[in-house]
Amino acid sequence: MTSAPPPGERRAPVLLATPATARAWSREVRSGGRTIGLVPTMGALHGGHLALVTDAAARTDAVCVSIFVNPLQFDQRTDFDAYPRPIDGDLAACAELGVDAVYAPTAAVMYPEGFQTRVVPGPLAATMEGPGRPGHFEGVTTVVTKLFAAVAPDVAVFGEKDFQQLAIVRRLARDLDLGVEVVGHPIVREPDGLAMSSRNRRLDAEQRRAAVCIPRALAATTAVAATGGSPASIVQAAEQVVAAEGLARHEYTTVFDPGTLEELDELLPGDRRPGRARVATAVWFGDVRLIDNRDLFAG
Ligand code: AMP
Repeated sequence: MTSAPPPGERRAPVLLATPATARAWSREVRSGGRTIGLVPTMGALHGGHLALVTDAAARTDAVCVSIFVNPLQFDQRTDFDAYPRPIDGDLAACAELGVDAVYAPTAAVMYPEGFQTRVVPGPLAATMEGPGRPGHFEGVTTVVTKLFAAVAPDVAVFGEKDFQQLAIVRRLARDLDLGVEVVGHPIVREPDGLAMSSRNRRLDAEQRRAAVCIPRALAATTAVAATGGSPASIVQAAEQVVAAEGLARHEYTTVFDPGTLEELDELLPGDRRPGRARVATAVWFGDVRLIDNRDLFAG
């Protein structure tokens, strides 16, 4: 028998481990006329994830956080193995926030023997992160489709931190008529400007200090953009800032159209406005790869 928790005390989230139990939970919530918000994560929850949960809670009646380190979206086995999995801390953080359900299936449950179907994204997956990470976005669209099928949310909240992923998932929901409103949430940053990321946990103290070169590089790009700089000079500004940091290895910086995700070789006067052009970068510290992005003209 369950009783209402004492005032001020949160009830622990319902733990869901299979698509069938997730679906049953979803049906029960919906039968009471309540809406569902889903926040898909790979765990190692931080302030960025928690902001997404708060956003979902403001939009819906019941929030489900999924925690699943999806092997299908890792192009490097070593990255998959090294990915942090602090499940107890994650569950405590979800309880603290009043999350209603945590869907945390195992890989064997998600991809049992004989699994073979994939959801293939279109051209949005062919730029930026796509070419360097073969199969990554196909892994994302496949797992997100499975999460949406199991939880049947009304709303799903994704971070602008993974800007390309957000665009691809929006397209996925539209193209396959999934009936889920995909909401983008702004990037949450540490006090020094570094975007919060589960991978930040893998940086040592020196690398962590060095990683502030990423937000600095992006700030340099907006400064060059504001004075009329071309995409080439904007990219060069980022490269210079990263090159000055001995522990950092620059992978790419690109200026792109936030709608099509296509690279912009030039910025026309009409592009020099908020929401019209974005810059994204990927930088390595040892074997840890961090990404970030921002609007070039947000002010
Ligand atoms: P992950 O666990 O890294 O797969 O991220 C789960 C969700 O949280 C994705 O939609 C990410 O874009 C989002 N996210 C991760 N870090 C941040 C951040 N610093 N600010 C906003 N959203 C984030």
